[in-house]
Amino acid sequence: MSRAQPTVALVAHDNKKAALIDWVTRHRDALADCHLVATGTTGKQIESILPVQTRLMSGPLGGDQQLGAMIAEGKIDALIFFWDPLSAQPHDPDVKALLRLAVVWNIPTASNIATADYLLASAHWQGGYDRQRPDYGDYANRTLPR
Ligand code: PGA
Repeated sequence: MSRAQPTVALVAHDNKKAALIDWVTRHRDALADCHLVATGTTGKQIESILPVQTRLMSGPLGGDQQLGAMIAEGKIDALIFFWDPLSAQPHDPDVKALLRLAVVWNIPTASNIATADYLLASAHWQGGYDRQRPDYGDYANRTLPR
């Protein structure tokens, strides 16, 4: 990761919260060195294992969008988001927006246990990684026909 204390965002849909709690428990030593950000209910559960420095609103109440804003502002180094592929979510547009912004800003993202394990085991995680921050200057300054 690019910072001495990477900022890691943790989110899980209700049916995936147990899996995330198990993952956090297994990786508590590595995660103890991180600044943890989580959506409301996920964060409340994680706090029984590790301190969560930034607890946002519950995802469906705006937490996913708060997290998306943090990504756009360059405040998040990795996203662990165990989303539920088998249940419709009332805040599906927010879920899509969050995942989209993670791609827009080249954020390492894990959506399941295996990928999250790979991420933490990565040499990049342990040895430092200079993540490329996309330059959208051309897009921001594009001229549009009137
Ligand atoms: P929650 O939100 O942690 O408040 O349950 C997760 C989500 O985005 O659905």
